[in-house]
Parts: sequence; C-alpha cells; structure tokens
Amino acid sequence: MTESINRSLLSFPLKMITSSLSPSGKNARLSISIYHRVQEEDDELLGISASATSFDLQVKYFSENFNVLPLHEAVQRIQNGTLPSRAACITFDDGYADNEEIALPILQKHGVSATFFVATGFINGGIMWNDVVIEWMRRVPVDLLDLTKMDLGKHEMNTLPQRREALFSLINALKYLPFEIRKQKIDQLCSLIPVSLPGNLMMTSEQVLKLHRSGMGIGGHTTNHPILARLTNEAAYSEIAENKETLEHIINSPVRLFAYPNGKPNQDYLSNHIEIIKGLGFDAACTTTWGAAKKGCDLYQLPRFTPWVSDYLKFMLHMSRNMARNVDVV
Ligand SMILES: [Zn+2]
Repeated sequence: MTESINRSLLSFPLKMITSSLSPSGKNARLSISIYHRVQEEDDELLGISASATSFDLQVKYFSENFNVLPLHEAVQRIQNGTLPSRAACITFDDGYADNEEIALPILQKHGVSATFFVATGFINGGIMWNDVVIEWMRRVPVDLLDLTKMDLGKHEMNTLPQRREALFSLINALKYLPFEIRKQKIDQLCSLIPVSLPGNLMMTSEQVLKLHRSGMGIGGHTTNHPILARLTNEAAYSEIAENKETLEHIINSPVRLFAYPNGKPNQDYLSNHIEIIKGLGFDAACTTTWGAAKKGCDLYQLPRFTPWVSDYLKFMLHMSRNMARNVDVV
C-alpha cells in the first residue's frame, strides 16, 4: 500500500526528470536493458534478485513510465530522429528456457516487446560453461573444496556466502582461459565430484520459434558464446555467421540484430568483429557498456544496462543515472 502511494506521488516528478533527460526527437535517448535469466525465485547461491516477482515489477515500471519499443523499431527511429521521449527496449542474452516459460507471459501481460539474443550451440539440451560451474557448485556435497592441484584454490563451503565466494572465484579464474583449457578444467571439476546437471536450462528450437511467433525479436549471440577477441578472424566469422543462419532457419525470418558475448568493447570484441557484423547484414549490435544511445551514436555498439531492482524509486533513479551517462557519438 505504502509502495503504491509512493509510486503515485513520485510518478509525475520522476516522469518530468526522465522526460528532460530523454526527450523525443533528435535529442532523444534510448535506454536498452539487458537481462539473462528470470527464475521462479531469487537465486540464493548467486545472491541476486532474478525472480519472476521482481521482473514483473520492473516490466510494470517500464510500461508505465517509458515508451517500450521493439529494438529493431528503436534502431530505425534513432536514425530518423523520431524516437519518443523516455524510449526504452528490453533485451535478453543467451537463450535461457525461463525466458520463454517465465519472462514471456510477464512481457505479454504488460503488452511490451523484447529481443532475445540466442547462442544456438546450447539450445535443445545444452548448457553454457558458466552454468556447469554454477549448477555443479550448487550441488557438490562438500564442506571444503580443494582444487589446488588444478590451480583453482582451496575453498570453504560451509555457508552459502562461502559457497558463493568460491563460485565467483572459480568463474573469474576460468572466464578468460582459452576455450580448450577451460573445457579441460571444467571436465576435471565434474569428474572430481560427479553431480547430475540439468539438461533443460536453455530453450529448445520450438521455444525460440514461439518467442518469434509471439511478436518478440530474435537476435544473434554467436554459436558457442566465445570471447570473440580471443578467436582468429575466421573462427569469429564462423561463430557469428553460423549462429545467424541457424536462427534464421528456426524462425524462417531474417535476423538483423546482434549482441556481443560478454560485450565489453576492446576486451571481449574488437573493431574487426564490428566489420564482420556489418558485412553479414546486421542492422545493429549491442554491448554491455552502460549508458543510453542517441542519434549519431554507433549503431553497432549500442550500450545496455541491467536494472535489477524491485523498488520503484531505485528503479527510476537507476534509469535516470543511466540516461544521463554520455555515450560517444561517431
Ligand atoms: Zn551472453
């Protein structure tokens, strides 16, 4: 009740602030949000709020306070200088099954569109390397994890925060290793203490098609979600081109939007990858640099940010801070 009174009292002044930060027309700003999973409940191991309840609130705040557009339309309108004030897009990365099972009904309830960037190497029963580590850490029945022989340290696992710390330490140690070495280490982990891992974390082809048929956007995200900057140009090209082709085959429509895996400029992708994206006929691509896009900015490096907060005031302040951030114009 207090929350809804706060919301109605604050709604008008906050809309004034966000409208001045993000007016319509040629000075418009486009806020693109990035999500990954939406789960039934908060994820206690990861210590993050990623629940359906929280996502429902955020989509409600988006739909009541912003003009939510499909990304492909927003890209056209940013070029034409015809974006509405407080323009926003919602995007998802990777292709988790919960995107179709949990997020889609929430988006439909609020009447908004989203774009889903899908790494096709994991659909139909696959699992991404980070999820192998996460799901393995959730399940290993030990109080002390000794991985010193693998150069991955020794970790107390008695409490949830300790287990979380151990998980993040492993993820950070593995993230930028060459693909084959990382795979070897993860295989070693899984054979050290075997646990049963889920086979239904990612979408099936039918779920990707269902999102498309529900009016949602489908975008490329490579086949195997590599750090593009660590690949040869030929390997990067194949990752991007084959993913596009597979998605176009599934939805029987062109795929013209892309999101770089991990997405940090000059670290996760380089200028040659932007050229590949352009050459393959994509209209725009998204990064994970935060900020809001505006007319004249690089459409192949659109900034995005994560607004995972359930509190209305915090959500609006977070959005305002993101809109106020200067993004280079090319
Ligand atoms: Zn991703």
